[in-house]
Amino acid sequence: MSNVTLLQPGSRPSNIPTRRGTYFVQTWGCQMNEEDSEQIALYLKDLGFTAAQDWREAHVVVLNTCSVRKKPEDKAFSMLGQIGEVKAIRPTMVVGVAGCMAQVRADEIRRRNPFVDFVIGTAQIGQIPGLVEEAIQTKKFQKRLELPERKGAVVTNIPQRHLERGGKLKAFVPIQYGCDKFCTFCIVPTTRGRERSRPTEHVIEEVRRLAELGTKEVTLLGQTVNSYGKNLAEGNVPFSKLLKLISGIPGIERIRYTSPYPRDFKADLIDVIRDVPEVMEHCHMPLQAGNNDLLKRMKRIYTVESFREIVDNLRSAVPHIGLTTDVIVGFPGETEEEFEGTLAAMQEFKFDQAYMFRYSPRPGTPAAEMEQVPQEVSKLRLAKLQEVQYAVQAEEAPKCIGQILEVMVEGPSPKNPKMLQGYTPCFKMIHFEGTESIQAGTIVPVELTEAHRWGFIAKQV
Ligand code: SF4
Repeated sequence: MSNVTLLQPGSRPSNIPTRRGTYFVQTWGCQMNEEDSEQIALYLKDLGFTAAQDWREAHVVVLNTCSVRKKPEDKAFSMLGQIGEVKAIRPTMVVGVAGCMAQVRADEIRRRNPFVDFVIGTAQIGQIPGLVEEAIQTKKFQKRLELPERKGAVVTNIPQRHLERGGKLKAFVPIQYGCDKFCTFCIVPTTRGRERSRPTEHVIEEVRRLAELGTKEVTLLGQTVNSYGKNLAEGNVPFSKLLKLISGIPGIERIRYTSPYPRDFKADLIDVIRDVPEVMEHCHMPLQAGNNDLLKRMKRIYTVESFREIVDNLRSAVPHIGLTTDVIVGFPGETEEEFEGTLAAMQEFKFDQAYMFRYSPRPGTPAAEMEQVPQEVSKLRLAKLQEVQYAVQAEEAPKCIGQILEVMVEGPSPKNPKMLQGYTPCFKMIHFEGTESIQAGTIVPVELTEAHRWGFIAKQV
């Protein structure tokens, strides 16, 4: 057992020098992982480490991995190979692996990379300080993979979070961990455990502190974010109520959330999007497939018809709402007819944007055992799907030209520093020529003048 005292969020032990080297956190995957990486960085800063530009020079390297597809797993193993070569020359380098791949492949990671100092699961990030200290002091391999459990209806051990997050214009705030849906293609219920919501007062406190430090926009994170609020010790708190509570926090101007699950998308949420100005007019709602048999095999608990009803209700309540989605092609057994259903759905729903993927079998999930679609077929289908979606965008986006929308300026565009960049409430990315006096965080009305696949050029009005 470790005898190293774990740091509490925000604390700094008095015996640790303020500067002791550098760290590098490499992240793959979703916003939840990005957010976890920020937490890891905060804990490492507490220990006196500063950020390194290049992992080769860092004293502590943490890989925050993703298991949702095979590709990010391959990238993580490839980077570990390179790290092994550097660590052979510089053995004091501390190497940790975190995230979803760490949760499900910890032993394999260690077996293939014996130089790894620690492997840490998705719910154990608060243990990073202790693990780094142990790696420095004892050089013994450690792993921490426990996931929180439910006791009866109530979840215990909601991860502690580091709340000293610095003044950022936009911040992710996890409100729910894990997932109970068990879609047949998805590894997340295994890597992140059963669905559990953070207590409402913890979420409110975190957002309040972010707002005090200058954050104007929060994105609430959860695998099925709109099922937030079940199994709380204080009783159920609907997601729509949480949105209203956050909208009342002084300084918070914009609230986003990702990703809602279609079956749990109820009228109270639509009312809040319509009525609460801080709740942005955008919804990223994963469709995944446009055929009911396919949805059933995916164990998605909705139909094309019920999805259509939500889209119709949303658009009639909030006509300019931005809708984006995720779609998978080449799911096991996908027939030509089923795929045609997905194409038809994309043409019908006219999403503003879509993240389109080829199915990637995840070992241990039911779909990985089903009859697979040949890769050549799924590649062709992905190309066809993209063609259809981009055609929809090319047809629909120009219809927005002339609209006047509010952009929250985030700063110069990384691709063209002469232009300012920001997003509208409906999540259109905007580039416009602005003066230097426009500070990040300012909300500027603009008129859309040019449509592109990535977003719009606009002019200030
Ligand atoms: S809803 Fe389905 S796809 Fe989303 S995290 Fe849960 S199991 Fe995975």
